[in-house]
Amino acid sequence: MITMKYGVIVCPKCGKARGVETKKKTTSCQCGREIVLSKTRFEFTTDSPLELADAVAQANEQLAGGEKIKLEKRRGKKNPYSKLAESAKAIKDPMERMRIIALHLTELKGDFLLEDVRQITSLMGKDSPEDVIARLKEHNLIYETADGKFRYV
Ligand SMILES: [Zn+2]
Repeated sequence: MITMKYGVIVCPKCGKARGVETKKKTTSCQCGREIVLSKTRFEFTTDSPLELADAVAQANEQLAGGEKIKLEKRRGKKNPYSKLAESAKAIKDPMERMRIIALHLTELKGDFLLEDVRQITSLMGKDSPEDVIARLKEHNLIYETADGKFRYV
């Protein structure tokens, strides 16, 4: 029996991995195929939406490389970005959210890049990295140390 909230399945038609809520009976793939979950094997299950997104990305990478799917929980070696994204996502005020991202990125890396912000915002599913940088600069919360590198003030 599956007790976790989310699972990763592979569409039998297009062969793409996707994330689903395990309590659902069916899901429709982007290719149009209706998938019955009780007849589908879950490659991976988790309660964390971030872990789910990570697992789907991993599965699609492995599938694209012609490999068999082998998904593991990345416990202990958890991506520092996902921890930061999780705490930032909980912050309602957008300016405060962006400030926390910049503060923690500076603690984590020293100078950070637009690409680092992108890693976080893509995990959060809100804010665009360009917006985050622009607004933080506007409020003098970060400064540019060198070409394309930023630091919390
Ligand atoms: Zn499909």
